[in-house]
Amino acid sequence: MKTDSFVLRHVGPRENEAKEMIKTIGVSSVAELIDKTIPSDIRLKNNLDLPKAMSEYEYIYHIQELANKNKLFKNYIGLGYHPTIVPGVIQRNILENPGWYTAYTPYQAEIAQGRLEALLNFQTMVSELTGMELANASLLDEGTAAAEAMIMLLNNRTREQKKANAVQFFVSDEVLPQTIDVLKTRAFPLGVELIFGNHNTFQFTENVYGALVQYPAKNGQVYDYESFVEKAKTVNAKIAVAADLLSLAILTPPGEWGADVVVGTTQRFGIPMGYGGPHAAYFATKDEYKRTIPGRIIGVTVDKNGNRALRMALQTREQHIKREKATSNICTAQVLLAVMAGMYGVYHGPNGLKYIANKIQNLTATLNTGLQQLGLKQLNCVYFDTLSVEVADAKKVKQVAESKGVNFYYPTNNLVNISINETSGLEDINTILEILAEAEEKKAVNFNAEVENVIPTNSKRTSTFMTNEVFENYHSETELMRYIKKLERKDLSLNHSMISLGSCTMKLNAATEMLPLSWPNWGVMHPFVPIEQAQGYQEVFKETEAALNEITGFYATSLQPNSGAQGEYAGLMVIKAFHDSQNNHHRNICLIPASAHGTNPASAVMAGMEVIVTKSTDEGNIDVDDLREKAELHKDNLAALMVTYPSTHGVFESTIKEITEIIHQRGGQVYMDGANMNAQVGLTNPATIGADVCHLNLHKTFAIPHGGGGPGVGPICVAKHLAPFLPSNPIIPTGGENAITAVSSAPWGSALVILISYGYIKMLGTNGLKQATINAILNANYIKARLEKEYKILYSGENGFAAHEMIVDFREFKAKGIEVTDVAKRLMDYGYHAPTVSFPVAGTLMIEPTESENKAELDRFCDALLSIKNEIIEMADNDTNSPLKNAPHTQEMLTSDNWDLPYSREKAAFPLPYIKENKFWPSVRRVDDAYGDRNLICSCNPIEDYMN
Ligand SMILES: *Cc1c(COP(=O)(O)O)cnc(C)c1O
Repeated sequence: MKTDSFVLRHVGPRENEAKEMIKTIGVSSVAELIDKTIPSDIRLKNNLDLPKAMSEYEYIYHIQELANKNKLFKNYIGLGYHPTIVPGVIQRNILENPGWYTAYTPYQAEIAQGRLEALLNFQTMVSELTGMELANASLLDEGTAAAEAMIMLLNNRTREQKKANAVQFFVSDEVLPQTIDVLKTRAFPLGVELIFGNHNTFQFTENVYGALVQYPAKNGQVYDYESFVEKAKTVNAKIAVAADLLSLAILTPPGEWGADVVVGTTQRFGIPMGYGGPHAAYFATKDEYKRTIPGRIIGVTVDKNGNRALRMALQTREQHIKREKATSNICTAQVLLAVMAGMYGVYHGPNGLKYIANKIQNLTATLNTGLQQLGLKQLNCVYFDTLSVEVADAKKVKQVAESKGVNFYYPTNNLVNISINETSGLEDINTILEILAEAEEKKAVNFNAEVENVIPTNSKRTSTFMTNEVFENYHSETELMRYIKKLERKDLSLNHSMISLGSCTMKLNAATEMLPLSWPNWGVMHPFVPIEQAQGYQEVFKETEAALNEITGFYATSLQPNSGAQGEYAGLMVIKAFHDSQNNHHRNICLIPASAHGTNPASAVMAGMEVIVTKSTDEGNIDVDDLREKAELHKDNLAALMVTYPSTHGVFESTIKEITEIIHQRGGQVYMDGANMNAQVGLTNPATIGADVCHLNLHKTFAIPHGGGGPGVGPICVAKHLAPFLPSNPIIPTGGENAITAVSSAPWGSALVILISYGYIKMLGTNGLKQATINAILNANYIKARLEKEYKILYSGENGFAAHEMIVDFREFKAKGIEVTDVAKRLMDYGYHAPTVSFPVAGTLMIEPTESENKAELDRFCDALLSIKNEIIEMADNDTNSPLKNAPHTQEMLTSDNWDLPYSREKAAFPLPYIKENKFWPSVRRVDDAYGDRNLICSCNPIEDYMN
């Protein structure tokens, strides 16, 4: 055996363990288990054709070689992406720390107080910088955040506006080009009519419900939008502003001149550009919109003892609950990046941010003075960091600049835009001036001191911000390091124990896959550099796309979508474009099984489709008769079926080929939700089951860490007839020859983290990928075999086996007064994060162990659940003072001088021996969700701030 092969590190069960496990399952071999689990008519005949697996050591050399093919130019391109300084303390203690990057979305609040606090800091920072009342805890990028604003304002039109069918949305010509492209994509299916123009001359009419302007604008001018806002108000049109968050440290925030929504990116708050992402976008708005704001909001509430506790607020607004009535499909966001950006704010504080913003501005002013001395015309009279310079020949400037390793942005052949950033210094300004002097044949000028800029009073920020002490107390590295550690210790992550979240595939995120993310040759790449400068990235994309094509059996892949839900949206838009190309504009019915993830119906509605829900049988499978009936009924208008495979019930449905045929025969396309791809890779694939397009969650199946709720990558893979429609980008063209407009701001979405999946595929290779799938199925069936004597397992395949996950039913314990939540909270006392609660069936847990856990860990987890079963049996009916009802138990409770519960402290906190070795303490008692929703507080400021 090659002990240096990565598969042995990635996969948990050792050979001897696997032998014992198959005995428990009751099969003679792993091969038999797989044969009995996956229907034979969809099994792949051949092995995947992928390059040979690399060892970890070989991979690091390989990825270093590729990194060297990315050229590190100085980038002054701007357009929403800027070089920034990632504070070392944040890089090492968050970005490179599995305690942070392997955490799950904080649904289990009691073991997630650390990241909830970090996100609350982020929200506070954003709402105060923008001057708005509340902010969410991140969206995917600036373009999609602007689209969410457009949609939120559409949904919140006045009754008169709705009656008058006011569907026009004004977009300033000076909004970033990639944002405009995303708006076009998103506006069209919803019937929103975009009106482009100059905000100074635009005439509002009653048909206009909203508007978007950029602040500072694309070319760098800081406009005074006050009269524009006045005009909008006369027709009750609402104002969305895409703002550079850093500039708001010194510019009057949009909240103070009448904005209703402010969106943008927090990339320049210490997040590497990463050739386009991932970065956290922000969304800040007024309190009146709190029930329709997209994405997750962190709020303050109390725990069972009345102590302050945090949790995700107002979840009833989300697509998980509202499904086709949801106002947004956002699920995975950019939590890790929001945590980092928030920490950047904590580290620098308001004065540090002002210092950075002023430094940038003074350097820009210095450049401006130099340009004047060169005799060049600069167009912006009020600016923050960007100047727009008239030149004789932009091509010449480009040529000279590139010869000196510098990139600018060239909007026309006579304009050069230059954006200064946090990393810039006086010598950079001199280099820029040198380039322009040479290209324009002027006499060079040189500065040895900065010039100070004066912002006109009406654009100058006078209000204070970030006054909470959290933004004052952690400015030394020692203090910030300890603060980050303090928060980290409150959170249960994969570096403590298995997180067996069904549908979320929380597998190993190997250190070797993560290492290159810290390297400048990957991080310091602007997404709009000429493609020749990014050949390392381009090779990674090409190979990743080829591998994903091979794995899915499809023809082409787009890496652009930034999450699974964005992939769904992109895939449906591609289907729509295909139908349109066939003159089937009327096809708009999307069939979705009742058990589908909430993002499916939400995405379909956003794509302008009408959702028809199809039934499940009692066995949890798609009711084929019902499906056929509905497909037949709607055959003239059928656009697509969205189907998850294996199903969200953890079953390889044997009727899948029949199902996809039913759709095709009636002119529909089949969209496969690939969240469960971890049960397919190397054994079957979406093309084989008859799908036309699928998304993959690279942050599930392909080892990108969950990050506490993002980043994600949701590429779509498509059959040949759909390839021409894959999405493009307005600056760096991508996608097919009849590409739809952009679905994300960056051409290849969250490029930096695609490296992780690339490494995963490279190091596992054909055999390793297949082994991962096999072991995922083995582990799930082992848990099933251990639990099924004591618990009811809902649904299994025809031969009685699960796929890679299974649903455990707790509804029978309701009679004793036990809810599934009690079990979820009690698991915390046993050192475990609960599996997925109440999806896809209420009152159940869905367990997905993944291949990365070994038998010992699976056994501890099963022991915990079996012990909890005993606790349920032992307790009196409706006992509200049982360990289950009081769970989780905190250290404070256990060490208190008063212990008056009817069971021992040991039973409370150390119910099984293994826990003594490695105790994890929940930091608060059970949180009260309802209380927090009634008294919504979304910032870290004291309660008094909310009193009026
Ligand atoms: C995770 C998941 C999604 C959504 O993916 P995001 O990346 O969170 O947007 C969709 N469908 C299923 C079945 C999932 O498990």
